[in-house]
Amino acid sequence: MEGSLEAPTRHVIPWQDEAWYDEAALDAELRRVYDICHGCRRCFNLCDSFPILFDAIDEAPNEEVEDLTKPQLQAVVDACTLCDMCFMTKCPYVPPHSFDLDFPHLMLRARAIEHRKGETKLADRELAKMTRNGKLGSAVAGIANWATDPDNDFTRGLMESTLGIDRRAHVPTFAEVPLVNKAVGITPPPNPDGPAFGKKVVLYAGCHDNFNDGTPGEAAIKVLAHNGVQVRVEYPDCCAMPKFENGDLPAVASAATRISAFFQPLIEQGWDIVPLTTSCALMLKFEWPLIEPENEAVKLLSKHTFDVSEYVVALSKETGLAPIEAMPSSIAVHFACHARAQNMGPKAMEMLKLIPEAKPALTERCSGHGGKWGIFKDNFDRAVKVGKPAARNLLKSEPDVIVSECPLAGPHLKQVIETTGAVAPDRIGHPIEVMAQAYGL
Ligand code: SF4
Ligand code: SF4
Ligand code: SF4
Repeated sequence: MEGSLEAPTRHVIPWQDEAWYDEAALDAELRRVYDICHGCRRCFNLCDSFPILFDAIDEAPNEEVEDLTKPQLQAVVDACTLCDMCFMTKCPYVPPHSFDLDFPHLMLRARAIEHRKGETKLADRELAKMTRNGKLGSAVAGIANWATDPDNDFTRGLMESTLGIDRRAHVPTFAEVPLVNKAVGITPPPNPDGPAFGKKVVLYAGCHDNFNDGTPGEAAIKVLAHNGVQVRVEYPDCCAMPKFENGDLPAVASAATRISAFFQPLIEQGWDIVPLTTSCALMLKFEWPLIEPENEAVKLLSKHTFDVSEYVVALSKETGLAPIEAMPSSIAVHFACHARAQNMGPKAMEMLKLIPEAKPALTERCSGHGGKWGIFKDNFDRAVKVGKPAARNLLKSEPDVIVSECPLAGPHLKQVIETTGAVAPDRIGHPIEVMAQAYGL
């Protein structure tokens, strides 16, 4: 049967069920799903996983999935960035369809088995320790930033040979003072004349917002406070998205339990939770409830979490926004995969349309970065290749500004633009920065 008329759903991830880790069962499920994809091929141009799969089948002796070797099955898993695009935008066979096909979560299952067998690469394991890395990096920001500078041939060469991080890949620089440490000093009191006066928001600074680039956080603080919202910034810990990418689901469950317990009393006191990074929002809203489905604090947090663009758009409808100056700029908006995966529509576009005379235009392609996936030597060229259609589309209208809700996609797209020979903007920041600029804040 072609497609389902019902809304797509996702199953709870049975990471505590031994049967989920059975390798023969995984092999059978990979072949079942790959065979459906072979007959369908809608996703041929979304990422590198599908071309790898289809080429392998086309070159197999009988052009059958059954002919594929284990390394060929695995190559498809390795190329997946867990962007969710196939599930969200293309696949007609997602649950409740009887084919019951959730390609990204099948890739996740394969990674979980790898992780349990201790086969996750050292660099993947170490880079996923975001809180530790962030604290260390901030403490020695000067040295860390010198060492990770792509112009520093010696240290980047060393990073490439030891950790497998491609020497050309952009690696985020560290801030000397984490956002959460300076937030109290830079957060204005809520504007009593702001239309949203009385609202309370905890900005959940993800690792990147906290340790690497506080610019989107500072912009969000200003925009919300100007509109009357009481703001505080918290970083209870990393949401564990990089560990999720590694298939380390016990670590994700632990983060979900601890962080949701931290936020629970705040939610009960009337605070809304607004992550600054789309991937964190996706974890809190959707992935954690699939991993800890019985945990009441996780369920509560999921209900009270709003992506920052989503929150501003909701305020505009509920209370109205403080007047915004006209800004006659064309704005190319990259629709980050993890914003799309939140199933809320292109909220950054909607938000930027609230600026009088602004002309935002949406680009829906994946940047190719995929969390930490794109920085590795094995993946960097593919990450650039996958990002090229997005970069081309962003540049099409010769925009005044380019933005992305994903803090890793922005610098990566800048790099992709540079590889095409086009002039890249100095910064591809978060759309909330444009809102702050329009407010003159
Ligand atoms: S989740 Fe993204 S990278 Fe993975 S197979 Fe689907 S589209 Fe490709
Ligand atoms: S994931 Fe779905 S839409 Fe994509 S190729 Fe497979 S069956 Fe087709
Ligand atoms: S998804 Fe968010 S909290 Fe998690 S690692 Fe990334 S930035 Fe950190």
